[in-house]
Amino acid sequence: MSAPVLPGANAFVVGHPIKHSRSPLIHGHWLRRYGIVGSYKRVDVPPDGLPTFLNSLAERGFRGGNVTIPHKEAAYRLAGELTDRARRLEAVNTVWLDDGRLHGDNTDILGYVAHLDQTLGTGWEAGIDSALVLGAGGAARAVVAGLLDRGVGRILVANRTLARAEEIVGLAPPRVAAVAWADLGKHVAAANLLVNTTSLGMAGQPPLALDLRSMSADAVVSDIVYVPLETPLLADARRRHLRTVDGLGMLLHQAVPGFERWFGVRPEVTAELRALVVADIEGG
Ligand code: NAP
Repeated sequence: MSAPVLPGANAFVVGHPIKHSRSPLIHGHWLRRYGIVGSYKRVDVPPDGLPTFLNSLAERGFRGGNVTIPHKEAAYRLAGELTDRARRLEAVNTVWLDDGRLHGDNTDILGYVAHLDQTLGTGWEAGIDSALVLGAGGAARAVVAGLLDRGVGRILVANRTLARAEEIVGLAPPRVAAVAWADLGKHVAAANLLVNTTSLGMAGQPPLALDLRSMSADAVVSDIVYVPLETPLLADARRRHLRTVDGLGMLLHQAVPGFERWFGVRPEVTAELRALVVADIEGG
C-alpha cells in the first residue's frame, strides 16, 4: 500500500484488485511523450483501507490519482470538494489535492462522449433521437448523463435488475425511462443508438444475446466493454453494416482530465496510444 516518494509529480490508480488496470500504460505513455518527470502507479487497497489511503496522499507524495472498482462510491463520500459531474453520478474516478483538500471528479461522462465525437464525428447527436442503454451500473449512469448532455431526446434503460434502471431515471425523468430486461427485444427497432454497459460480452462472460435485425441501417451500436476490443455484439453489428463504437476510446478519453490536473499538460488521445493499449489487450 505504501508508495515511495519520487521527485516530480506522482499519481496513482487505486482499486482492489488492481493488477489488470491499463491506466498505468496510458499515463506512462503520456509521461514519456511529454517528457514529464513523474510517475503513475497501481496501488491495491482493500475497501477498509481506502479512507486512510485517500487521507494520506500528501505524505505518500501523491498529487492525485484515479479511483476504480470497487472504490468509486466510497471516494465520492470521502472527497471534501466535488465537481457537479461527480455529484450527479454519486461516484468519483479522479481525485487531486488542492490546498490540502481532497477534490473528486468523474470523467467517465466526458470520456464516453469524447469517444463518440472522435469515432462518429462531431454532430453525431443530430441523428440520434432515441437511445437504448443496456445495464444500470456506474458506467451506465455516466453514459446516460453524457447522452442527456448532448441532447438525446429519449433514453430507455434496460437492466436485469429493474430497480437499478429505475434509479437512473432520476437523472432526467421523463426523458429517461426504465424498461424490463425481458422486454428488451421490443425496444431495439426504435433505437438509433444502442449502448451495452453490462459486463455481458466481456472476456470470460457470456455474450449479450440480442437480435439486431430490426435496427435501422443508420443506427449506431456502442459497447463500453473493451476486452475483447470487438465484442460479439459489435461483431454482429459490423456484419450488419451498422456503425459501431468500441469501448476502448472511453477508457482513453476519461484519462485526459486527470493527467492534465496532476501533470499540467492536456494530453492527446492518438492512434499511437490506442495501438499501444490494443497490443496490450491482444497480448492478454
Ligand atoms: P456494475 O456497476 O457492476 O454493473 C454491471 C452491469 O452489468 C449491471 O447493470 C448488471 O445488471 C449487468 N449484468 C451483469 N451480469 C449480467 C447478466 N448475466 N445479465 C444481464 N446483465 C448483467 O459495473 P460498471 O462499473 O457499470 O461496468 C460495467 C461494464 O462496463 C464492465 O464490463 C466494465 O468493464 C465496463 N466499463 C468500461 C469503461 C470504459 O472506459 N470503456 C468504463 C467503466 C466500465 P444487474 O444490475 O442486474 O446486476
